[in-house]
Amino acid sequence: MSEKLSFVNPTPTSPWGTYLQQVDRVMPYLGDLAKWAETLKRPKRALIVDVPIEMDDGRIAHYEGYRVQHNMSRGPGKGGVRFHPDVTLEEVMALSAWMTVKTAAVNLPYGGAKGGIRVDPKKLSLKELEKVTRRYTSEIGIIIGPHTDIPAPDVNTNGQIMAWMMDTYSMNTGGTATGVVTGKPLHLGGSLGRVKATGRGVFVTGREAARRLGLDLRGARIAVQGFGNVGSVAAELFVEAGAKIVAVQDHTGTIVNEKGLDLAELIPVSRTPAGAVSFKGGDVVPNEAFWDVPCDILIPAALEGQITAARAKKTTAKLVLEGANGPTVPEADDILAERGVLVVPDVICNAGGVTVSYFEWVQDFSSFFWDEDEINVRLDRIMMNALNQIWDTADKHKISLRTATYAVACERILMARQERGLYP
Ligand code: NAD
Repeated sequence: MSEKLSFVNPTPTSPWGTYLQQVDRVMPYLGDLAKWAETLKRPKRALIVDVPIEMDDGRIAHYEGYRVQHNMSRGPGKGGVRFHPDVTLEEVMALSAWMTVKTAAVNLPYGGAKGGIRVDPKKLSLKELEKVTRRYTSEIGIIIGPHTDIPAPDVNTNGQIMAWMMDTYSMNTGGTATGVVTGKPLHLGGSLGRVKATGRGVFVTGREAARRLGLDLRGARIAVQGFGNVGSVAAELFVEAGAKIVAVQDHTGTIVNEKGLDLAELIPVSRTPAGAVSFKGGDVVPNEAFWDVPCDILIPAALEGQITAARAKKTTAKLVLEGANGPTVPEADDILAERGVLVVPDVICNAGGVTVSYFEWVQDFSSFFWDEDEINVRLDRIMMNALNQIWDTADKHKISLRTATYAVACERILMARQERGLYP
């Protein structure tokens, strides 16, 4: 009965195309709620904005920005903002939809949203970066707010950018609205534990998955793609648990060391413009060779669509922990399942970030801040409860953890939709 969306052209491996197939796979498990499922296949609201700024040399540059609110049936929109030259409306739509599923999977009182600007921030001066951030925030200010839609960091955005967003929104509305964004610096209403929360969630879910598989973390070999906020923090925690990181790939290239890379030295080097490949404690190999490195655990923590069918066929990993959003295309998902490789899907594996974002938002409203132990205990409890429920659902229906996560999450979303009813 419903027309296809006219403004996107999804393919089987594009982010939105991947998401649509993931939704289709959960349909048999939705019972009577399936009649509402079309609501999952279209965003509630999508805003495209022009972001003009004056560059340091006096030129006027225009960038394209987006904020998509995919679904707000269960609460305000929640989701990060990505600064990347390849960002598109379709990508942001998929990322916003994955946020809807993720917040429902861990049972946070949020919907799903996401934002982005088509810009390479590495080519901007600090002043230009601030101007882009502030103009973008002002443009999307008509739909964000502490009770409507709360942005957070994602690829190439951080606490400083969140501080500029909070300040811009506050200047436009005449107050100090700390609750409008999460991932803020600590002294501006940020939360302890937020910076490491996503990587910590990857570790907590990964440790439990390894335990259930009978895979000993001591001595386990791990390959990590993407060595930013998510990948590097997860890597550190796995090393603390006795594992070794045998391969790291970032946007500058790939380094390997079968004896284990020294993270204390690699992490600071990877933060410099020269990136991970300038690290001397490993061998630089061609990027495609990353997928051939013998490993027990593979952590994609960069961008979407990285685990293709061909790469799924050759990985030696027994366990894939999706730190990134949408790293595995559906065909590759099937190949991994056939090969007996367990995938902990993004919508649960990387939900630690949004969970501590939720804690930050709650702390901002109550103006009462918790210590880091309390945050980590609550985070671990929420992640473990969610994972256990999803595992039981997967066992009950004999389905993948991904489809089980969608079954648990989509039931919550569509139940809320049904109970609210359609307006008018
Ligand atoms: P980040 O900007 O801190 O790091 C991104 C990393 O990916 C960098 O190491 C970069 O060099 C690498 N990278 C970029 N392009 C690459 C390419 N083509 N090949 C290999 N590596 C590449 O970003 P982040 O916050 O760590 O986010 C990484 C992933 O995790 C994204 O998919 C993001 O949506 C997801 N995620 C992030 C959070 C969060 O709290 N930051 C929460 C949930 C999910």
